Amino acid sequence: MRREPVLGIDLGTTNTCAAHVRNKVPTVVSTDTGRLVLPSVIALNQRSDIVVGNVAKEQMVINPTKTIHGHKRFIGRPFNSPFVRHLAGKFGYDVVEGPDGQTAVSLGDRVVTLPEVSSLVLSHVRTVAQQHLDGSVREAVISVPAYYNDNQRAAVKRAGELAGLEVKRIINEPTAAALAYGFNRGFDQRVLVYDLGGGTFDVSVLELQGNVFQVVATGGDTFLGGVDFDDRIIGYVLETFQREYKIDLSDDAVVMQRVRNAAEAAKMDLSLLSNLVISLPYVAARKGRPLELRVSLSREELNELTSDLVDRTFQLCDEVLGTKGIDPSDIDEVILVGGQTRMPLVQERIHRHFGRPARKGVHPEECVALGAALLGDSLDQIDAVTLIDVLSMPIGIADSKGGFKKIIESNESIPCRRSFSVPPPLDDREYAELDVYQGGSDRIVDNEYLGTVRYPRGAQSMTFRLDEEGILGVSLEGDGHCKEITLATCGTPPSLRNAIEEDIIRRRQLAEQPEAQQDAGLFASIRRVLGRTSR
Ligand code: AMP
Repeated sequence: MRREPVLGIDLGTTNTCAAHVRNKVPTVVSTDTGRLVLPSVIALNQRSDIVVGNVAKEQMVINPTKTIHGHKRFIGRPFNSPFVRHLAGKFGYDVVEGPDGQTAVSLGDRVVTLPEVSSLVLSHVRTVAQQHLDGSVREAVISVPAYYNDNQRAAVKRAGELAGLEVKRIINEPTAAALAYGFNRGFDQRVLVYDLGGGTFDVSVLELQGNVFQVVATGGDTFLGGVDFDDRIIGYVLETFQREYKIDLSDDAVVMQRVRNAAEAAKMDLSLLSNLVISLPYVAARKGRPLELRVSLSREELNELTSDLVDRTFQLCDEVLGTKGIDPSDIDEVILVGGQTRMPLVQERIHRHFGRPARKGVHPEECVALGAALLGDSLDQIDAVTLIDVLSMPIGIADSKGGFKKIIESNESIPCRRSFSVPPPLDDREYAELDVYQGGSDRIVDNEYLGTVRYPRGAQSMTFRLDEEGILGVSLEGDGHCKEITLATCGTPPSLRNAIEEDIIRRRQLAEQPEAQQDAGLFASIRRVLGRTSR
């Protein structure tokens, strides 16, 4: 009997790609219209039907408020997080507070959660894959950026489940790209994955030895990607038009969406051409006569407009290499991931910086899905592949002054565990609480809230344990007991606090029950407070 394929899915900021392995060869799923790469966009059309992919992207210009794109940047983030505050106004649709304080979007008269949005894309991918692979597809390995925190990974898993998929593994994108490059090739190399996608820049250094893929360091910038290159062109185009006609186009949402599309198209064309003219008819009117936007742009001008963005990627590469004392010349191969790496300036600068051209033959927009499919295919084969990853951002706890005390540092190999002693509850209280955060800042307000651990008097130490997928578990030790907790909250501090209040009432009732029952109750209630989202 033929085994059902495990889909490898790269759920990208801009595009989603799906691959599978047939006869040991990973390939992107082929469809009637080409390969299974579709825009990660969903929309509500004129008839109030949900549409996904190209059809959704096509209506972005005429219906920007009901076209959801770039949602990967919000998934698994609390609405009140600094990241969401920074980004929310940059999209044509409304970013709102959803259930449990998570970020959600408004679509027509509904509030849709981000896992629901992603599940629509995944569900579409699954349907198309089933049609073209001629059978059912239930299992998947889904990739996520290396910097995704615990909540974000959990939210992607949830999206997979909502799409009817059993998510066998979450894999980090750079690790997947390295797998696509090195699986079964018997390499003994140190490689750098340079991933410049639509919204983010990610850099990871891996050591490959046969089929052991060990990430040694990772880093990047969650606010640096292709859209920043587009923004530079948009700024230039608007300025040129304003100089000529004294008209500011930036207030008109529909014109701005047209300018955005034209800027991105020009940027992509300039990867092949040396100059072009951006031309958009009827962007404004004067004395009843339509005005055309017409701006010429050369590759050299584009390079000038964006060279500081490219510089920044190399600063980040050097920072990541510096954490392990590695020199750029110690890198054996540079693997490119992400559409923006097609820009000639990026490739020239890679050649200069690392003293070698980037590796050809690894497709920048397909390799992550291919690597995820390879992992999916080898999961039930013992020792087929070993992945050793690192934590991309520190995990720690809040101190009493709003500072961040790191418990697990970034670039620690995972799986790993760290124990630390916990102070007893204050005064005569029965319980104490610790807020858990993840991020690179010394102040908790700048980091991402993961959850609150509540522990009883008698607990002496706590252990943070990261599994191979980077998902955090917490256990409490004390009084000869050890309790396991899965920290998988999607709640905000206030919503968790409400849950804790309810819990206290329940606990008072429990206090009247025999001891064994009390203990089970305590365990269940900690799980309930912390584990509000099931995985
Ligand atoms: P990804 O998130 O990997 O799908 O990358 C999408 C980003 O790559 C978008 O910002 C695209 O504009 C950009 N991109 C795609 N193709 C090209 C190209 N040929 N030249 C420059 N940028 C590109």
